[in-house]
Amino acid sequence: MNERFIFTRHRTNCYYCGEDADQIIKAVSAQAQVICSACGATRIFIPRFENTGAIGVCTPIGCYDVWALETDGLCKNCGVTGPHDLTIGCSHFTTRCRNCGYTHFYRFNLEYIGKCPVGGADEVSAPRAP
Ligand SMILES: [Zn+2]
Ligand SMILES: [Zn+2]
Repeated sequence: MNERFIFTRHRTNCYYCGEDADQIIKAVSAQAQVICSACGATRIFIPRFENTGAIGVCTPIGCYDVWALETDGLCKNCGVTGPHDLTIGCSHFTTRCRNCGYTHFYRFNLEYIGKCPVGGADEVSAPRAP
């Protein structure tokens, strides 16, 4: 899967290790991930549904601050590379194309701590879908 849709980072206090660290944010149509660059805590989100032109925004109810970010991405609906609004909470992840309004909704799926100590095994298997 070489699709490259959203790739950005957001510096904040990690919900897991508490460090002020970059949280790496990646999203493609099939999955979205948020990874702490300090401790490797990873949250995986899977698509819930997609919507074209919806204006409605789900009201985020999260266990910590919701991140409202903006980043460039290639919209698969209108084909334009431009600003996308990202909204990331503890149980949801949405991306919305500013150009056409195309929105991906993801929901929280699983979490794992992926940090490999230096010299440790790097053959950590990818998380399996449930
Ligand atoms: Zn962390
Ligand atoms: Zn678009």
